Amino acid sequence: MGIYRAVIKSVVPLSKSLSKKTHQLSTFRSISSSSIIIPSHLEKVGFVGLGNMGSKMATNLVKAGYNVAVHDINHSVMKMFSNKGISVKGSPMEVAEISDVVITMLPSPAHVLDVYTGPNGLLNGGNVVRPWLFIDSSTIDPQTTRKLSSAVSKCALIEKKVSRESPVMLDAPVSGGVPAAEAGTLTFMVGGPEEAYMAAEPLFSSMGKNTIYCGNAGTGSAAKICNNLAMAVSMLGVSEAFVLGQSLGITATTLTKIFNSSSARCWSSDTYNPVPGVMDGVPSSRNYDGGFASTLMAKDLNLASASAKDIGLKSPLTSEARDIFTKLCDEGHGAKDFSCVFRHFYSGKDEL
Ligand code: NAD
Repeated sequence: MGIYRAVIKSVVPLSKSLSKKTHQLSTFRSISSSSIIIPSHLEKVGFVGLGNMGSKMATNLVKAGYNVAVHDINHSVMKMFSNKGISVKGSPMEVAEISDVVITMLPSPAHVLDVYTGPNGLLNGGNVVRPWLFIDSSTIDPQTTRKLSSAVSKCALIEKKVSRESPVMLDAPVSGGVPAAEAGTLTFMVGGPEEAYMAAEPLFSSMGKNTIYCGNAGTGSAAKICNNLAMAVSMLGVSEAFVLGQSLGITATTLTKIFNSSSARCWSSDTYNPVPGVMDGVPSSRNYDGGFASTLMAKDLNLASASAKDIGLKSPLTSEARDIFTKLCDEGHGAKDFSCVFRHFYSGKDEL
């Protein structure tokens, strides 16, 4: 079922399909320091993975009044959170023991599997102590998401704050990048049981401005890798066209004006232009620093490519885009924003 919901800054009670007892538990608590109202089934939120994105998302949950506990293997980021008075824990399992809901924001499928099923992992060998809901916001492949969702649903839930025998999982990757994570304006694409999605809406609205329910487990992950595949290919197309234009004597500024009022207009031409000097406030205007790292784009294209291969789908543009971004990383540009493909793959010139 494809349902689009613009999240309103309000609380949403648990849906009918959760039990009566769950409904009774779904009372709302007002946090005196702010006007946010938090439902009791979401009071305690665990957060694992405090990198560029996760640190901002967890901070927004704290600002919204949630009782947050965090974990990361990076000790300096843990110290930063601890200095702000936020509870830090030594392992994912310790986070899970005190949380109603746990959100993960990790680099890749291997990291996510490790945090869920590894030693001292969230699933605690199949006996989940407290969280009735797990939300993975990392960009990973739908196959891994589905495996994990199935493993979660087979776990026993020991402390039953909501009336469920097993916990439930949502895949909820995000779009918007670090600035949107900081501003609390992310877009969430969510897969998993719809009633869990509805129950979790207050959390999404504390970190983002749009959520789109995509369907069963894995469909959020699928949406995300498809989005990034299309974004990568459009960035390559725009970059290649600008370099051809420059070589044929048209400036990128002129070509941008033409694209943006013609059929080639797209996000890569009108919002995130890859040519240094054409637009202010984008990574190309600051030596491709900040933004969305080429390593992450290469990872996402690998996920898309593996997913296509898995189902026997012909996807030549995915393979080509993956190879180009992998080459960029091999040549030392992995930390730069992915729009650096214009300079470092195509040897495009800056706009003077
Ligand atoms: P990041 O590398 O900055 O952060 C990942 C964090 O996970 C790090 O702090 C790392 O120490 C921690 N970590 C790794 N293994 C761990 C473990 N076993 N236990 C606990 N912590 C562990 O990555 P990011 O930019 O925050 O991205 C996170 C996810 O979000 C990725 O899947 C990425 O593709 C996706 N994403 C990123 C952006 C972006 O613009 N950066 C945008 C949308 C989606």
